[in-house]
Amino acid sequence: MSSEKGLGNYEIHKKIFTKDMRKDYTILIPQMAPIHFELMEAAVRSCGYNAVLLRECTQKTVETGLKYVNNDACYPSILVTGQMIEALQSGKYDLNKTALIISQTGGGCRATNYIGFIRKALKDAGFENIPVISFNIVGMEKMPGFKITIPLVDKLLKMVVYGDLLQKLLTKNRAYEVHKGETQKLFDTWMDKCKKLLTKSTNKEFKQSIYDMVADFEKIELDTSTPKPRVGIVGEVLIKYHPFGNNHVAELLEKEGAEVILPDFMGFVKFMCTHKITFNTLLNTNKTSSKLMKIAIKLIDILEKDEKIALANSKKGYLPPCDIWHLEDKVKDILSIGNQTGEGWFLTAEMIEYIEHDIPNIICVQPFACLPNHVVGKGVIKAIREKYSEANISPVDYDPGASETNQTNRIKLLMTVAKDNLAMKLKEKQAIDRENEADDVEKVKNADKLKT
Ligand code: SF4
Repeated sequence: MSSEKGLGNYEIHKKIFTKDMRKDYTILIPQMAPIHFELMEAAVRSCGYNAVLLRECTQKTVETGLKYVNNDACYPSILVTGQMIEALQSGKYDLNKTALIISQTGGGCRATNYIGFIRKALKDAGFENIPVISFNIVGMEKMPGFKITIPLVDKLLKMVVYGDLLQKLLTKNRAYEVHKGETQKLFDTWMDKCKKLLTKSTNKEFKQSIYDMVADFEKIELDTSTPKPRVGIVGEVLIKYHPFGNNHVAELLEKEGAEVILPDFMGFVKFMCTHKITFNTLLNTNKTSSKLMKIAIKLIDILEKDEKIALANSKKGYLPPCDIWHLEDKVKDILSIGNQTGEGWFLTAEMIEYIEHDIPNIICVQPFACLPNHVVGKGVIKAIREKYSEANISPVDYDPGASETNQTNRIKLLMTVAKDNLAMKLKEKQAIDRENEADDVEKVKNADKLKT
């Protein structure tokens, strides 16, 4: 056990996750993105760890978080810590054989320091003996019992591809399915298949499964005779995916008649990979790590190739995986790519990506006390609107006490504008179609006259 001294006599003992613990310890993973993390649990388990995803999140979780984290901390850190302490207090886990895991991004925001919050909360709640594993690829904290190996990275990247694909197939088909519930049923079937494939499959089987999955979803009958406004969600990584964290925003939007688009998780991974490259470009820091990250992005692009082809072959109009270099280039008109804290420039870029793909309606979810994402989210909306006149963006705040009524009103207002804009666009299209039709009739008449 090593120790970290804080102010005064406050001392935190860092419990080490040893190699021996790997055999019989349960590792608890806090929820962040339900589709992806469901798969992540299977991927981590297949590498020999007894990982358990903490699926439940309730108001009690928030209250537990608030009890152990200072209330000026960002909302995601309250939720994450709350989940962990609640699980340890639940009596479900053997406290002598339980560890926690949390990611550390290595950036300037709290995501790097969650681990400190968590260790303090553990001490205050009487769980100082619980080891906390840091999941990071930037050489921060290391624990001898948990290693980021090539097979683990390979499985995690494949789980992100599966998660992104399942997410797209689910939201698009669910919005227009003729037989209610059909999409969810197929989604559940493929979720199980993907978990098995992540446990044991060759690269060839992985590739084939991508095409098979898209082909299966192609069979779902859709009724697109009445187009729905497409609404994209952007924002802080936990709040945009975590249904409890965002008060079920995707569900609410669907009820209001939208087709919901959620961003790919892989985009965020690629953005993280650009950090070292940008540092080196702007500050001349380290050429080698910059080169390595360029290779990493290339490898991810190769991994996504079959997903891109399978989606492009579909006529349903799915959003393709992002080209991070194109987005980086585009975003420079709005802000500097030196903005890397939190979701950094990528949050702004996601809005541009949506608009470029004819998704002008955007909900920007903003967690309480998240300064970095207020800068690159709410802070750029005016500049985006000036550049893209069709943009219909609404920032929505989320925090432990935020009024649900305010959130709902904002979302309903965005939907009213979205529906009006879509109706106007369809009218304009019909008028153009009628004009073209009249032109065609005129051309036929003229051709007939010439003949006679
Ligand atoms: S990005 Fe914002 S919400 Fe996320 S950890 Fe950092 S400060 Fe908290």
